[in-house]
Amino acid sequence: MIIGVPKEVKNNESRVGMTPAGVFELIKNDHTVYVQSGAGEGSGFFNSDYQQVGAIILDTIGQVYAMSEMIVKVKEPIKEEYDLIQEGQIVFTYFHFASSESLTRAMIKQKGVCIAYETVEDEEGTLPLLTPMSEVAGRMAIQQGAKYLEKPKKGRGVLLGGVPGVAPGRVLVLGAGTVGIQAAKMAAGLGAHVTILDVNMKRLRYVNDVMPSHVVTEFSNEFNIRKHIKTHDLIIGGVLLKGAKAPNLISRDMLKEMNPGAVIVDVAVDQGGCVETTKATTHEDPIYIIDDVVHYCVANMPGAVPYTSTVALTNVTLPYVLKLANNGWQSACRMDKSLEKGLNIVEGEVVYKEIIESFDLVA
Ligand code: NAD
Repeated sequence: MIIGVPKEVKNNESRVGMTPAGVFELIKNDHTVYVQSGAGEGSGFFNSDYQQVGAIILDTIGQVYAMSEMIVKVKEPIKEEYDLIQEGQIVFTYFHFASSESLTRAMIKQKGVCIAYETVEDEEGTLPLLTPMSEVAGRMAIQQGAKYLEKPKKGRGVLLGGVPGVAPGRVLVLGAGTVGIQAAKMAAGLGAHVTILDVNMKRLRYVNDVMPSHVVTEFSNEFNIRKHIKTHDLIIGGVLLKGAKAPNLISRDMLKEMNPGAVIVDVAVDQGGCVETTKATTHEDPIYIIDDVVHYCVANMPGAVPYTSTVALTNVTLPYVLKLANNGWQSACRMDKSLEKGLNIVEGEVVYKEIIESFDLVA
């Protein structure tokens, strides 16, 4: 198959759909790979890296789309990319259709085969192509939180690890899922005291089994949250209710109970956030302060570490890309039920129930 890797067009997106290691595997399997010139630069991969493993570099995005049977990218196509997609062409990327009717209608019109990373789902009901981004965001949450706890960054001037003779900082993690566990692990590694809350006892038992003793689990309820926010320096929001808005666990009035200069990193901002005062921010202007509490609410945290994010993403997408390239999308989806769940729009027809319901489309 002929596979195309375009440069991302979306503002501030430095990730790329395929690393040279991925291209190497595809070429080993007798496929042809076209990479747009400069596509990998933001992630630290140069044209020469791709050429060395056998990719052909094309100058323009138009050439990549026109010459490829499958496009592998990162973000949903934006307006200027819509018309590039051809009838029957496979587009394998994050789409998030339910949040954009215009994108949905454009992809119906273009008649491509849209396979969405975010709806590929394994037998356990987990989303393998979303997990790595939660891992990145969870780990990064502590890095960012530690930074904004510094006085010049408007924080309360606490070093998370403490020093001999000074107690370590205290980190409260809401949610013991992928984000929460990665955050707890990083905070524990720095020597901070960590409290992690969840409503799922299975998750708490797991955390209790695998984490060191300075990571303490408690059940998540309003009483416990009100108690802990008074004594913790950094709060990480990592809760998720599948397919719904995040629950509001910290209300505006609770901020007054927190230490001045405490920091909230609400990773769940992309689902509305778990703090009443959360509003989405950007890497250019990541924080704001309400009632002396620093809020960090960047909606695309992995975008700040494109090298790590690109490699983490392509580690998990490559097996699916190979399956699609080796077998064609129909056979690949018949063979792999996880991949079949990724089918969202097929040659003009919406095949994913939630999208049909979102926009009142006729099935
Ligand atoms: P996950 O499903 O692995 O974990 C969510 C956890 O929240 C679960 O263990 C669940 O039991 C728990 N939970 C639900 N209600 C709760 C409550 N009331 N109190 C405490 N815990 C509760 O999800 P995840 O992959 O860790 O993702 C968490 C959030 O982070 C999602 O909203 C995701 O979209 C978001 N995210 C954001 C970014 C970003 O850049 N901002 C990047 C990746 C993920």
